[in-house]
Amino acid sequence: MMRTLSAKPVPPIWCPGCGDFSVLAAVKKAAANLKIPVHELVLVGGIGCSGSIHNFLEVNGIHALHGRLLAQAVGVKLANPALTVVAAGGDGDGYAIGMGHFIHAFKKNASILYLVMNNETYGLTKGQASPTSQLGYEGNVEPPFHSILTALSIPAPNFIARTFSGDPKSMTAILEEALRFNREGRGFAFVEDLSPCVTYNDTYKLWREKIVDVSALPGYDPTDRKTMFRLCLEQVEAGRLPVGVMHRPKEPGRDGLEVKLVGDRAGPVRTDIRLAPNLPAYEKLLATSAS
Ligand code: SF4
Repeated sequence: MMRTLSAKPVPPIWCPGCGDFSVLAAVKKAAANLKIPVHELVLVGGIGCSGSIHNFLEVNGIHALHGRLLAQAVGVKLANPALTVVAAGGDGDGYAIGMGHFIHAFKKNASILYLVMNNETYGLTKGQASPTSQLGYEGNVEPPFHSILTALSIPAPNFIARTFSGDPKSMTAILEEALRFNREGRGFAFVEDLSPCVTYNDTYKLWREKIVDVSALPGYDPTDRKTMFRLCLEQVEAGRLPVGVMHRPKEPGRDGLEVKLVGDRAGPVRTDIRLAPNLPAYEKLLATSAS
């Protein structure tokens, strides 16, 4: 017999002022604005402070293995394409142990949202240098990893954007667009939120000074990958933090992995796999594999 466990959402356990509170509020608002029924929304959390976000919302939630949330989120989407699936985690989880899955997610292009809360530190384990940490932070001698430049360098029909926890209104609008993109079967959406860790790396003030809205830059065209890579690289090299929509495909197509593999059929979880009604098909399959 299969048993399920339902747990009520609990209040966030984050430090007061943590940037992840804005993300929680924006996810809630975007899902409400799009009228996504709670039973159709799945949040797959990574490991780290941000990865506990699914515990604070009344949705279906999975706490994934470290760096493996994308594999699980893609699996959920392929099993039941009718669901809206959000994978949410931090920079340490996604850009260190999870890096292989991160790169392949753009190529696979399943219609899920990957939401990374980047605070340039490992907050949960008390502030060690992460892949996005600046030179000198906690003795870090490696230059920071730039997820947006990496995302823009992969030629796939993805939605790519960056937000800031200090601007929840813009974040909500971008998350809404990303979720709409997913729900239309158009493919993978990647949104990195700059989410300060007020306890171990309080960057609110510094980031407010450095943030640049890419849509205000001359030549801004999010349908042109090359232009956007150049614009973002120029901002990064000038020590600024570009935010906004970095890429949306020019042609609206249903390019999602689940569309290619499952099409308009119900996903495997909604398929009747009982023996009796499927016996002729199973016998045919066995005969084929035996010959
Ligand atoms: Fe947020 Fe940092 Fe506190 Fe973790 S340690 S909850 S990232 S402020």
